[in-house]
Amino acid sequence: MNVHTPETHTAPTSSATGDLVVNAALGGLRLHIFDEEVRLPATIYLMPFSAPEGSIRFPEGRSPSMNVLLFDIDGTLIDAGGAGQAAMEGALAEEFGARGPVSGISTAGRTDRAIAVDLFRFHQVELSDDHWSRYLKSYFRLLPDSLKTQSGRILPGVIPLLERLSQRDDVLLGLLTGNFAEGAKLKLTHYGLADHFRLGGYGDLHLDRDDVARAALCAAKDHHPELSPDRVWVIGDTPSDIRCARAIGAKVLAVTTGIFSTTELEPHQPDLLLTDLSEPERWLQTVGLI
Ligand SMILES: [Mg+2]
Repeated sequence: MNVHTPETHTAPTSSATGDLVVNAALGGLRLHIFDEEVRLPATIYLMPFSAPEGSIRFPEGRSPSMNVLLFDIDGTLIDAGGAGQAAMEGALAEEFGARGPVSGISTAGRTDRAIAVDLFRFHQVELSDDHWSRYLKSYFRLLPDSLKTQSGRILPGVIPLLERLSQRDDVLLGLLTGNFAEGAKLKLTHYGLADHFRLGGYGDLHLDRDDVARAALCAAKDHHPELSPDRVWVIGDTPSDIRCARAIGAKVLAVTTGIFSTTELEPHQPDLLLTDLSEPERWLQTVGLI
């Protein structure tokens, strides 16, 4: 995986090869995966996969009525059947001989970086740049086969909803996920959903999902600088999705297709709570799309 750092702030570029594209709008960019003291500029975003350059079309001008819908992946769009966790464990075993049951590490709503850091610590694997690089390389190599062998599925209503929303010129679909960007690409490509999304915030750099939300919002504002936060919706399945939406002033549609029930999500006060995405009319009405 390559990281490109343009010298000046530019419109978002894209790569059909899966490279990470990092733009730094203000100040210098220092990219140290394990330097917890470095606060990366809020204007950094990652856009690892999208339509070929030049093929993205948005309405001319800066429409204040543009709606940005930021989807979580696991538990919201797909149930990967544990493919990600199996690939993570496989990478640790393959690279460092770290095997055995893992306990005490939660995954729902967390970033892949945060989960992996915990796994390194659990297995007492040194958090060095070299180890991190080896881990990522192994994880991304194992994940496609893991997706094939684990019994995952696209969650109810996702395909028709994404197809419906993709046809609108007042909707910009993005991702707000704890997945590594390349992991998100592999998962969504496996399930044939990748082409719907034009931007995202991912879990490569951040331990806190709120920072992923800020990155996703910056990416959206790069397309639509006058975007109003109340036109941004986060769609997710965990309390962390709800919390990170509030961190950027966005609204939230929560769904119970992950591990959290209605009873568990309601206290976090999403704007709307649905069992799944198979009957989205009530939400679409709230958004103002019907
Ligand atoms: Mg989720």
